[in-house]
Amino acid sequence: MLKVKFDEKKFFFCFDTMDFSSILLKWYASNARELPWRNTTDPYSIWVSEVILQQTRVAQGLPYYYRFMERFPTLQVLANAPLDDVMRVWQGLGYYTRARNLYYGARQVMDEFGGRLPSTYLQLLKIKGLGPYSAAAVASFAFGEPVPAVDGNVFRILARLFGVFTPIDSQAARREFFNLAQELIPHDNPGAFNQAIIDYGALQCTPKSPQCSICPFSEFCYAFQNNLVNSLPIKGKRIIPRDRFFYYFMISHQGDTFIKKRTNRDIWHSLYEFPMVEQSKLLNSEELVKMISGVELFQGAEVVVLHVSDVIKHKLSHLNIWATFIILEIDKPPYILLSNYIKLSVNQLHNYSLPRLIDSYMAAEPVEQYFIKQK
Ligand code: SF4
Repeated sequence: MLKVKFDEKKFFFCFDTMDFSSILLKWYASNARELPWRNTTDPYSIWVSEVILQQTRVAQGLPYYYRFMERFPTLQVLANAPLDDVMRVWQGLGYYTRARNLYYGARQVMDEFGGRLPSTYLQLLKIKGLGPYSAAAVASFAFGEPVPAVDGNVFRILARLFGVFTPIDSQAARREFFNLAQELIPHDNPGAFNQAIIDYGALQCTPKSPQCSICPFSEFCYAFQNNLVNSLPIKGKRIIPRDRFFYYFMISHQGDTFIKKRTNRDIWHSLYEFPMVEQSKLLNSEELVKMISGVELFQGAEVVVLHVSDVIKHKLSHLNIWATFIILEIDKPPYILLSNYIKLSVNQLHNYSLPRLIDSYMAAEPVEQYFIKQK
């Protein structure tokens, strides 16, 4: 029998914590998803899976997980690999900072922890790339530490179940939900509890159309009982994506082209791209011609524009990128181009990790015709 008490201070119903976790774990026993990182207590594999799954659906992340573990089966192999190899395996998954942090985190573990991931939440938090969620996941799944892994799933489930109205994107939310989850997590099976709540959020208490009619908590769920399922959790300010305007130059010179690694503190750090000029707005054709003739990289060379793509919209969580690809032929690459960019044939581009925007453009457009080697 589920015990329920009413907490007047918080103004929501709360379950007896034992009952909450036992009902959740019972549900999990018959509904758990079969995922490769659940059959291991190896902290490195768990860490990799957690990093891949940040902002990524399981179906999309799974092939990357297999590929990553095949190429970098241990933390030592990852730490000793070149960063470019890591970025290549990650290519297409997006949010590339994750890959870089994982890599530098592995190197840090080699330098500071003798190559073994530490076994406590607080120590794990000291490693680059391990934030509160992934540190809690590794600590609970691999080492059995009762610390909750709190992410959007947990915010949603707990906000609905317990009627928490704190905006989940507010400063106060993380601490409040963490404390609530900390009260609920059982000390004898914390890893399974954290896994169960992930699956509960993915399969049962989903963001849209949760399955309340077959939910074992529905009788006591604040949101369900108060017709607030679609209103909880509360979100504060919506981030309005900023517009950026990228003009890429695919330079054709005797069948070769030019790329460079992005090194600024910006999106796509460590990925490669064609020479690019960013503008503050979309250019009309007159402005485009003027812009091309002013590009420093081409000064002193004869430039013929072969093709200008349509404007392509590429959405990131916080940005809308409006990209135009300009294919142009150049008679004699100026020194500034030769010294700052890598010259290579178009066929070699797949050896470099490129942003998905460029990859998709190359896959969709028959650009090779503009890069036929002239002797
Ligand atoms: S009743 Fe509905 S909203 Fe409440 S926990 Fe269950 S699935 Fe989620």
